[in-house]
Amino acid sequence: MRIALFADIHANLEALEAVLADSNSMSCDEYICLGDIVGYNADPVACLEKIQAMGCPVVKGNHDEEASSDLGLDTMNPVAAQALQWTRDQLSEDQKNWLRNLRMVRQVHDFTVVHSTLDQPDAWHYVTNKFDAMSNFSFQYTQVCFHGHTHVPKFYVKAQRVSEVPGDSIKVEEGSKYFINTGSVGQPRDGEWKACYTIYDTETQEITFRRVEYDIQATQQKIIDAGLPPVLASRLNDGR
Ligand code: ZN
Repeated sequence: MRIALFADIHANLEALEAVLADSNSMSCDEYICLGDIVGYNADPVACLEKIQAMGCPVVKGNHDEEASSDLGLDTMNPVAAQALQWTRDQLSEDQKNWLRNLRMVRQVHDFTVVHSTLDQPDAWHYVTNKFDAMSNFSFQYTQVCFHGHTHVPKFYVKAQRVSEVPGDSIKVEEGSKYFINTGSVGQPRDGEWKACYTIYDTETQEITFRRVEYDIQATQQKIIDAGLPPVLASRLNDGR
């Protein structure tokens, strides 16, 4: 079985469609969405409808939570807050309800998925190094867990101790635990503009990051046309 795991779509329809086409061409037979379907970019409704139609397992991201709430946005950075207010205005009540009812953590087959971390899924901690990953591992009861949230693909492995393993591919070995950030579909932040997602091949036990080109100009034009902050368009080029 080949499973495509994708996170942080952030209303980037062109990137989502490119990732789904690529995973189809890579013979993926299952899909899992790790949250943050909406926020930042200009296609929240189309992205949400596409993922609803897929009927795949989904966990909630912080932008999914904020977009479906009526609470003030003053704790967020101003650009994210402006985009979330715009997103709230686009979504119907039914769509907000669907987002609101998403689960924080799910077990699929023999692994776990969460948007941020397993120790406090609703605190939205960012895991940016092996020390952050350690607190997650204390609450990880499956060998493999996938997450998103930082928009940077990473392999954290706990063998004798926790380490960050470089590269685009890793093999699951007996005796170790894996906490894997699948990267971001719609707003990568590792300096690379191409959409990122992850394939888990359960036969070979290989987990691989994939990078996919998409029509970035179309996405940027929609951001400008929607009146969203122009920095949201320019940052896509830089992968920041
Ligand atoms: Zn995100």
